[in-house]
Parts: sequence; C-alpha cells; structure tokens
Amino acid sequence: MRGFEVLQRQLCVGGIPLERLAHRAGQTPFYAYDRHMILRRVAEVRAVLPVGMHLHYAVKANPMPALLSCLAPVVDGMDVASGRELLAALDAGCSPSSISFAGPGKREGELRQALAAGVLLHIESFRELDLLARLSAEMGLPARVAVRVNPDFELRGAGMRMGGGAQVFGVDLEQVPALLARIAQTGLQFEGFHVYAGSQVLKAELLAELIDRSVSMLLQLQAHLPGPVLQVNLGGGWGIPYFPNEQPLDVQPVRSALLAAQQRLHGQWPQARLVVELGRFLVAEAGVYVVRVLERKISRGEVFLVTDGGLHHHLAATGNFGQVLRRNYPVAVAQRADEPSLEQVSVVGPLCTPLDVLAHKVALPRAEAGDLVVIFQSGAYGATASPQAFLGHPPCVEILV
Ligand SMILES: *Cc1c(COP(=O)(O)O)cnc(C)c1O
Repeated sequence: MRGFEVLQRQLCVGGIPLERLAHRAGQTPFYAYDRHMILRRVAEVRAVLPVGMHLHYAVKANPMPALLSCLAPVVDGMDVASGRELLAALDAGCSPSSISFAGPGKREGELRQALAAGVLLHIESFRELDLLARLSAEMGLPARVAVRVNPDFELRGAGMRMGGGAQVFGVDLEQVPALLARIAQTGLQFEGFHVYAGSQVLKAELLAELIDRSVSMLLQLQAHLPGPVLQVNLGGGWGIPYFPNEQPLDVQPVRSALLAAQQRLHGQWPQARLVVELGRFLVAEAGVYVVRVLERKISRGEVFLVTDGGLHHHLAATGNFGQVLRRNYPVAVAQRADEPSLEQVSVVGPLCTPLDVLAHKVALPRAEAGDLVVIFQSGAYGATASPQAFLGHPPCVEILV
C-alpha cells in the first residue's frame, strides 16, 4: 500500500505494524518516516542524475534532526533557508563546504552565522551583498557567494512558482551583471549561480525545459563573471503525486535534460560542480501521519470519523486554510488494510473550525473508535509547516523508523 508493507492485515512502517508503532511513539497523533524508503529514494535519484552531478537535500521539506542525520552521509550537501536550519544541517554532520544558504531577507545574525560556519551564501539582493561584505571585513572571514538568479522566463505548471516575473526570490536577471560587478569590487569569493523556479512540478517536459532555459540564461552571463564558476545549482522542483488524478514524475526526460545541461555547462565552465536540490521528492512518500479515531459521528446520514489529529499538525492535508481547492490526500485505516472500502466517510480533527478536514467523503473500510487512520504522502511539509499552537491542542511527535 503506497510502498508500505501490510502484515497480518495491518499497515506497517519499517516492518512494524502501526498499532505497535503508536505504542512506541508514546501517543497518537504521530508522524512516522521510513528510513529505508528514504535511502532507496536517494539511490533511485542517484541513478537518474548524470555521473558527477551533486544531490542536495532542501532541509525545509523536513528538518527533523534524526532524518537529517540519516540523509547527511548519503547526499552531497544540504540547502538551508534560515539560521536554525543551518545549525540543524551542521548538527547532522553535513560539511560546511557543502551547505548552501538561500532565502530572501537574510538577517545580519544569520549572515554572521553563515560566515562563521563557512557555508555558501546565495545572494538574493544588493542589500544582502553589501551587508555581507561589511560583516566579512569586520569578522575577518571570507564570504563564499553564489548569485541566485530570478529568470526572465516563467515556469508555468509548477505547484508553487518561485522564479520568473516579479519575485522576492533571487536577483532579476537584468540586474545580475551589476551585482557581479559589485562582487568583484568587494572582493567576496564568487563561486557561481543558483536558479530555483518552482516546486511540485509533475510534468517532466516542463522540468526539462526549465533546466535547458536556465543553462542558456546562465551561460550568457559569461562576460560579467568576477571569477571562475565553481558551482551551478540548477534547483529542483521535482513533484510527487498527492491526488488521484496525478501521475508520478517521469524522470527519464529530466535525466536527458540534465545530461545535456552538464555537457553545455562543462563546455564553458569546466570547473563547475552541478547541483540538484530536492526536498519533497526525497522524503514525502516515505512519511505517514497517523491519527486515532475518537468517535464515529453520524450527522444526517453522513459519517464523520472524529480523530485526535488534524489541521494543527498537517495543514497541507487539510487544504492550507482553504486557500486552495481542497483535495484528499490518500488515506487508509491501518488495522483494516485488507478490507474493502465500503463506506463513504469524512475524516476530521478536533479543532473547532470547519477547515479541520483530513479527508472529505472518501471511501474507507468501516472504521470504529480506536482505529488508526493513516494519511500518506506526509513526509514533507508536515509538522514544521503546520500551526501547532492553533487552538491549543497537544503537539504531535515524529519518529524515524
Ligand atoms: C523549498 C525549496 C526547495 C525544495 O522544494 P521541494 O518542492 O520540497 O523539492 C529547494 N530549493 C529552494 C531554494 C527552496 O526554496
């Protein structure tokens, strides 16, 4: 079931039935991440990437410390987007030389942290560059910088667009030559470029086109370089299927595009290390969110499974505060994994808001109070991307199995 084993009718994570795992976790609700599935996924991605291309993990997808420690030895680096994520990546044993720090509005304190740690900074504005130059001189520490470029084209069809058009992310392509000149003036260590145009892309042709156009765009900056290009981060954006109408990403066209990108970039910049940064693609499908049914409530003929978990732990599954058209994540009843789905039910949480719906009118086996309901595809943007304090219910726990 979604890559998870069923043993004696019970859904398992890491070979352990979920009821038993709930005891081990000490409570419901909990998130469980299967380390072997994550490691398998990393190996699969390695097989897709051209030889020599580096794989980075984008920490914000899931910053659980144990998970970072599990990933640190098998990826080539990590991308962080805050001072605390930086500390988490370092704690996990990731080498500073292979950590990069992106994100708009980096604070002075965060830039100091990055300088002291010796990680690569993705510059997203002139202000950041000038501040960094001052701090670098003040602290007597070199600043390693790459320029995050906001492309002059848009990625249509991404779940979330983070490049092209007017953006808070990166420096508009038109301004990059001036920024590169400023880097040369200030004497900061220029290392290369970063392009990240969007997230949750399921169309392979779109990703391929993005890679191709990004490379063309970057190569045109040749005349303005302050030094050799040592690193090109081509972003990621590889999506996973959440909803019934979505198909898994076809990785072969992406591989072809990356091979072509590698050839073109190395033709002009032989020293450049090429990086792909993935978040959800590595971890989302290896995670489940598990809640217990408190009550079967029937209202005017409709069945509601009222559970102990919901929006406060898993905002994405409940539709992000109604901002997007809410669709159901895949769900199951853990102890009834082999029973037919005979009943239409809504799985809801205990929060006093109509938004607290984990699954709306889905077909499930008949579940009773005490049963465990599992939300799949929950390994990314779960616990840390949810408003845990909202309405004062207890927090969830996370375990790596
Ligand atoms: C969020 C983010 C990622 C990860 O996105 P996923 O959809 O989880 O793969 C990678 N790079 C940057 C710069 C990001 O902001």
